[in-house]
Amino acid sequence: MKRIYFDHSATTPVDEEVAKLMLEYMTEKFGNPSSIHSFGREVHKAVDEARNHVAALIGANANEIFFTSGGTEADNLALKGVALANRKKGNHIITTAIEHHAILHTCEYLEKQGFSITYLPVDEHARVKIEDVRNAVTDQTILISVMFANNEVGTIQPITEISEIAKEKGIYFHTDAVQAVGNYPIDVKELNLDLLTLSGHKFHGPKGVGALYVRRGVRIESVQQGGGQERSIRPGTENVPGIIGLGKAAEIAKRDMEKKIAHITALRDKLTTGIRERISDIKLNGHPTIRMPGNVNFSFSYVEGESLLLNLDLKGIAASSGSACTSGSLDPSHVLLAMGLTHEVAHGSLRISLGRGNTAEDIDYCLTVLPEIIERLRSMSPLSSTSTMAENNPCSSCHKH
Ligand SMILES: *Cc1c(COP(=O)(O)O)cnc(C)c1O
Repeated sequence: MKRIYFDHSATTPVDEEVAKLMLEYMTEKFGNPSSIHSFGREVHKAVDEARNHVAALIGANANEIFFTSGGTEADNLALKGVALANRKKGNHIITTAIEHHAILHTCEYLEKQGFSITYLPVDEHARVKIEDVRNAVTDQTILISVMFANNEVGTIQPITEISEIAKEKGIYFHTDAVQAVGNYPIDVKELNLDLLTLSGHKFHGPKGVGALYVRRGVRIESVQQGGGQERSIRPGTENVPGIIGLGKAAEIAKRDMEKKIAHITALRDKLTTGIRERISDIKLNGHPTIRMPGNVNFSFSYVEGESLLLNLDLKGIAASSGSACTSGSLDPSHVLLAMGLTHEVAHGSLRISLGRGNTAEDIDYCLTVLPEIIERLRSMSPLSSTSTMAENNPCSSCHKH
């Protein structure tokens, strides 16, 4: 059976060119970049080049890039590192209710350490209101952290406006840009950002490697101790193959950015229009226009997201949903709930995240299969007017909420 990958917000395939280069830095070029002999020096030079590529992708200087083990670690380093280094100035951090758990759970940890966190609400389209940001600032605020683009619904935040407030008030501004970097143009100088998180595997680089951009002059402390690597901000022998792969992925992303966005946007619009034409009782989640090129997120009334996913998977289509019935938790996505969706509507959500490898044929196939599945699931739903088999709803317990 043909398999179609529609889950690029979860991870992407490693580019062949990236994988090939990484292999070279595991076998022939295996030196430790800290060694002063030729084995070490050639690798040190390659790590520097990778740093240049990552910096170029986001408009940073190379010495403002610190490699980490991925987006999660970079988020931890940004929040904890800035909190620790600036706690004499204040103990207040502003973030949003729709951040990735790498931010939310780090904030919860910081609360236990005595920091006070404001979780800003979002509107129905998952956008933060500028006035809410402004009103949340106190004389204790040291950091604002607002994600660039949401991983579930694709909404892009008013980063420029938030950055202006941060500058005006003398507060650091961090953005978790893991969904956007490599998939959407970002310039840290233009946006006046102090810190930015990125991750390799969301743009055809390897898993387990990412970076934190830290503008020169930002006060930050390391959260782990060791040697002098990454200027002691992130000690530990470098993940050389990962870093080399991240650098190559960054180079390719910058080179192909425009072409990739045009291709993916066209597919997204075809899919969105097609779903609207073929299926009724649906709701587009996220902002109608200010969203990531590859993100399509719909709620389908009277349908349970997990059953939808399993049925799509049987047809070879890999997507994602905002509910988690089968993982033992009945709680739907915190993002969809923060947008004001009811539990029922949130449970019926489907995220299709497109990538550069997808084709118009993939969309056509999905537009054939999806309406059939929705119709079948609705015919089994106790809540649907077309229902004929009330007992067969595979996830009726969810509707308790
Ligand atoms: C994937 C993701 C992360 C985590 O990055 P990892 O490299 O997988 O640790 C953080 N934030 C957002 C918005 C993400 O999409």
